[in-house]
Amino acid sequence: MALPFGPQSPELDVLVVGAGLSGLASALKILSKESSLKLRIIEASDFVGGQLGEDGIRFVDREQLGMLAYLASVEVSPRRRSSDNESLRRCWDLDRGLTALPAKFELERYINMLELRMNKFRTKRFNLRERVSNMEQHICQHLFFGKSRNFMLNLVEVVCGVPANEVVYDVFMSVCSSCGGLRMIIDFYFTYPSSFYEVSTQTLIDKILDQIPFTAISLNCRAVKLEHWRNYVEVTDAEGTKYTAQAVILAIPWNKIQKLQFAPPIPKAFLPPVASTAGKRQRRRISQFQLRYDKSHWTELGYSGNFLSSRPLISAHECGMSTINGYMLHLSEDEEDVMGEVLEHLAEQFGEEMRQPLECSCFTDELNVALHKPLVKPWLRIIWSSSSAVGTTYRSLIGGAVESGVRAAVNALFVVRPQVVSWKDMIEARTKALLEENGTGRFRGLLSRLNLYNVTFYGGFVVGITCLLNFGYERLS
Ligand SMILES: Cc1cc2nc3c(=O)[nH]c(=O)nc-3n(C[C@H](O)[C@H](O)[C@H](O)COP(=O)(O)OP(=O)(O)OC[C@H]3O[C@@H](n4cnc5c(N)ncnc54)[C@H](O)[C@@H]3O)c2cc1C
Repeated sequence: MALPFGPQSPELDVLVVGAGLSGLASALKILSKESSLKLRIIEASDFVGGQLGEDGIRFVDREQLGMLAYLASVEVSPRRRSSDNESLRRCWDLDRGLTALPAKFELERYINMLELRMNKFRTKRFNLRERVSNMEQHICQHLFFGKSRNFMLNLVEVVCGVPANEVVYDVFMSVCSSCGGLRMIIDFYFTYPSSFYEVSTQTLIDKILDQIPFTAISLNCRAVKLEHWRNYVEVTDAEGTKYTAQAVILAIPWNKIQKLQFAPPIPKAFLPPVASTAGKRQRRRISQFQLRYDKSHWTELGYSGNFLSSRPLISAHECGMSTINGYMLHLSEDEEDVMGEVLEHLAEQFGEEMRQPLECSCFTDELNVALHKPLVKPWLRIIWSSSSAVGTTYRSLIGGAVESGVRAAVNALFVVRPQVVSWKDMIEARTKALLEENGTGRFRGLLSRLNLYNVTFYGGFVVGITCLLNFGYERLS
């Protein structure tokens, strides 16, 4: 090989860093276009799939047509969530207590207001303003009840990966709009209506791997340094092993990319803005769990298995026979106590039997950090991927991982084998248009911009009640 100064070519055509869904989607796309290319995937952990975890379930919304088409192309049949237990009660702490009704009402109004304002926060118009409040201030200014505030604070953290006080309002709105809207996200993470499809993560990974049987995947191999030479890139892993490739796809989240050493350094234009954190930030994590029981104890009590606690955030739902699947948001130092806390909450709601599952598995991951601008352009031979790149239609979802993976693959093919790239691939690589949003009406849009949407609604409500009372009083007298 004798690089960097020798005349020989690098050992690989493409090196993919990260064997998550995005990296696998890149590898599959590249090899399906040109199977003779030399490609290798290096992965820091000891398993393939990244955030998909080992043997879990992911949901795909039916609006994610691209993702559904992709699943069909890799021969994975998603299962539609059955709605036969619709008569059963869901179990949300937002539904309980004296304040439940007003809290849910104000939450609904708040979500409506954000949805109305979301139109202008399109991915391509990601101009951050100077004077903006953070999401915690915004939520506390607009919501009065603790339950509705907690729900929104947790939601912001799940979507953006950092606490709401570190997320600027504009960033949150842009991220939501690039995911298809706030309501879509809420359905996705919490309500799980029957319009969703369930995908077995193991089946998805296995099917992709079946289609790239000769691809070398090196596990326990963490990339630490990237040197960008004129005709190739040299990647060094933590053990000191070097890989040279004509193009490198970094299919890893941005917080991990920031830990890599680049030579020459990443151009300033590509660097994410530094988060303005007051004091030391606590590291937040998300743990996914699966619990299998001898029978569905929750159904016997008249519950559907849908469970939501907003502090701490635990979201769970029935998944297949007698099985509960879900996740919990927590600090990194609380990782050991996650299962205990989950069982405690479930036992409190569904009975003591919930403390003794037949099988129990838990998988913890860091939350993605969203404090960056959309990054879709390759940096010469280094190409960014990952579902948490803002410039995808379904940011932070599996649809976003596949979209960014396929786009990175097309960009890499442009570097190594441009003649195989067709116009169809170029269309695929372009950021997809967001879902057609329902017309919000000029008047509602204007009221929302003037911050009068909720005020007008409540004003109308009070005037209506007064008129009704007046009318009743006049008829009586
Ligand atoms: C608990 C949970 C539930 C979710 N539920 C859903 C859902 O229902 N529906 C949905 O659409 N989405 C869901 N998601 C999101 C979805 O799983 C992710 O968006 C998607 O899997 C991300 O894929 P990725 O390839 O972009 O990143 P990742 O899966 O994070 O892959 C990155 C890979 O790179 C590796 N890596 C990192 N640094 C290095 C390095 N320096 N060198 C080498 N390798 C490195 C990592 O180990 C990892 O394997 C969920 C996520 C979580 C955590």
